[in-house]
Amino acid sequence: MEVTFYGVRGSVPAPGPHTVRYGGNTSCVEVRLSDDSTVVLDAGTGMRALGSALLKRGRSTPVHLLLSHTHWDHVLGLPFFAPLYRSDTHIFVYPLANDAQELFQRNIFNDIHFPVSVDDIPARLELARPEKAEWRIGSATVRRIALNHPGGAQGFRIDDDDGTSVTYLTDNELSADNAKTSIEQLARFSDGVDLLIHDSQYLAEDMPAKLGWGHSVVTEVLRLGILAEPKQLALFHHDPERSDSALDLIGQTSQSFFQSEGKATQVLVASEGLAVHLKK
Ligand SMILES: [Zn+2]
Ligand SMILES: [Zn+2]
Repeated sequence: MEVTFYGVRGSVPAPGPHTVRYGGNTSCVEVRLSDDSTVVLDAGTGMRALGSALLKRGRSTPVHLLLSHTHWDHVLGLPFFAPLYRSDTHIFVYPLANDAQELFQRNIFNDIHFPVSVDDIPARLELARPEKAEWRIGSATVRRIALNHPGGAQGFRIDDDDGTSVTYLTDNELSADNAKTSIEQLARFSDGVDLLIHDSQYLAEDMPAKLGWGHSVVTEVLRLGILAEPKQLALFHHDPERSDSALDLIGQTSQSFFQSEGKATQVLVASEGLAVHLKK
């Protein structure tokens, strides 16, 4: 399995001189399975570059799109995904965390929000409705779990038949009041994965002002890492205000934390273009 980050930013794109190294595009991650199936996690602005990359590779279809939820920063790249404008592309959109599945298409592709309407998209955009809480995509089994986020969001675990695995948990507030899913449940869901990707938008000093906004503080994410013991932990959904140098520091202190706890987990600070090859 290969996991490639195309957008790592939360809330809003944040281009500029202070975000050049980690990147300013919002959430979009490609997971290439061992049988070469293409799974895409979220359709943030990073999806534009992913579309170009897929066309260049000549492998733009089918695309299995798993959306955590439909806040703008997770869907804004979809209208700019070049394979959408080819009639030979087939895109499966998997069930959303709320009831907005049909509305989601109509609300983006209408004359008010975008010049192309849903009926004029050349690609086949199909709403997939797996009957169970886990389903198959290519060589992998996919599971989902409810996250703690205003309006609802869902996380995914992908286990490839080659024995590699990844969990994608964003947007999620680990210490939310009345949490739908506890940190222990998320740790069991992510138990022993090769790569755990988690929302790490805030620092302790951002609180309590941003309590209830649906995102996690880095120290809570490290706690989840201690419980789940992934081989690699990717800090993700960076705050738009977080500079490259601030992210460097977060990466260093997070890695030192695992070392001081005697854990082998390797910390990654997700950056645009970072490709993580997972193998057993
Ligand atoms: Zn977000
Ligand atoms: Zn959100």
